[in-house]
Amino acid sequence: MSCIFCKIVSKEIPTKIIYENETVLAFNDINPMAPEHILVIPKRHIESIDDLSSNDKDITSSMFEAAREIANVRNLSEYGYRVIINNGKAAGQEVFHLHLHILGGKEKLGPMLAK
Ligand code: AMP
Ligand code: ZN
Repeated sequence: MSCIFCKIVSKEIPTKIIYENETVLAFNDINPMAPEHILVIPKRHIESIDDLSSNDKDITSSMFEAAREIANVRNLSEYGYRVIINNGKAAGQEVFHLHLHILGGKEKLGPMLAK
């Protein structure tokens, strides 16, 4: 298995886990783009939104549940935070294992897209 996020799930790559339940895992992004930059991934390898099925509602709801819980515990809700999914090559997806980016901090984040 060459997927870097699957290696994080299997603990082949050690990472400080921020949040975990039976369905999802969250950890700090290695190259943070904001004071807080956390990734939430499903434990199962799913490449992108396009590969989700209607049977995967537990995964999508767990990903948002994790985002809400992390934002609450790390006080991101106080200032606001952004949740991003880069889906596919044109969107800039580099790791083809579905993930939410959670970006937050006290400073206002930059524009949603660079012009
Ligand atoms: P994306 O461009 O949406 O696919 O984002 C992939 C993200 O994964 C980037 O923000 C990378 O910095 C991050 N990343 C890649 N490898 C690791 C790793 N080993 N641990 C934590 N984050 C990683
Ligand atoms: Zn994977």
